[in-house]
Amino acid sequence: MADTLLGPAEIRELAARLGVAPTKKLGQNFLHDPNTIRRIVGVAGLRPDDVALEVGPGLGSLTLGLVGAVRHVHAVEIDPTLAAALPETVTAAHLTVHPADALKITGDRFDPAPTMLVANLPYNVAVPVVLHLLAELPTLRGGLVMVQKEVADRLVAGPGSKVYGVPSVKLAWYAEAKSAGKVPPAVFWPVPNVDSGLVAFTRREPPADTERRKVFAVVDAAFAQRRKTLRAALAGWAGGADRAEQVLRSAGVSPQARGESLTVGEFAAIAAAANSSPPGGKLSPSDAEPKELNS
Ligand code: SAM
Repeated sequence: MADTLLGPAEIRELAARLGVAPTKKLGQNFLHDPNTIRRIVGVAGLRPDDVALEVGPGLGSLTLGLVGAVRHVHAVEIDPTLAAALPETVTAAHLTVHPADALKITGDRFDPAPTMLVANLPYNVAVPVVLHLLAELPTLRGGLVMVQKEVADRLVAGPGSKVYGVPSVKLAWYAEAKSAGKVPPAVFWPVPNVDSGLVAFTRREPPADTERRKVFAVVDAAFAQRRKTLRAALAGWAGGADRAEQVLRSAGVSPQARGESLTVGEFAAIAAAANSSPPGGKLSPSDAEPKELNS
């Protein structure tokens, strides 16, 4: 890790020199606490041969920590002033700055290919950024991201939890996620009015070879009306409540269940059943009763 990490005085001085007034629109809350940087880099589980991808390096607080821990850092920053200034703050030769929107970035621009996502994410786009990058960069083996605490709780929630929802299931498609702790508002400038949380994730094989897009369509439909039974919630997606019931039974899922109780494997089974049982087709007797699914 670099000897000199940025504290409150350096952050203010850098921002003043660059004429940066942090904006809410871009989720600009900059870390000014070297201990938090050391903590993030420590719990990220980085290996010296990793290639880190940082989204939103801002003034460079975390970037300075990352360049000392891995063989290459890619930093993707949407704000042109911050992107242009980063190489002056972080003078490492193994840093590549990408002045770009992380939501639109494609995997082909990174050389070497990123293996770990480590970022204090812009809070308003944190979930879409993580999901986009996991889809776009199969070389990512995992990551550690800081997000709003409430979003962190949602990302790591499992079936049955009140906060289990679309972000939880979609992240579970790609990775196993767990909470890596809470971060107080005081370590940021400007001070946000919410706590932050760290989420650590490790990529794993998708739970089924069903097309991801089709599985995610079921997830979106199920949680769009999360209080309804799946029979009702999936009626629009399936082309009618009877068809939804047929598909659910064929997938081994109770039509009376709600999306909040299903694992990502069960969502995948529903998408697969819709693919393989034609609308109006007869179910085989063995498919007629709901059964327990693994995963
Ligand atoms: N990493 C820095 C730190 O910890 O001090 C800054 C983190 S700040 C929460 C988020 C950063 O993401 C800002 O620098 C902001 O300009 C940048 N940002 C916002 N939206 C972005 C996007 N779509 N793509 C890339 N960077 C983005």
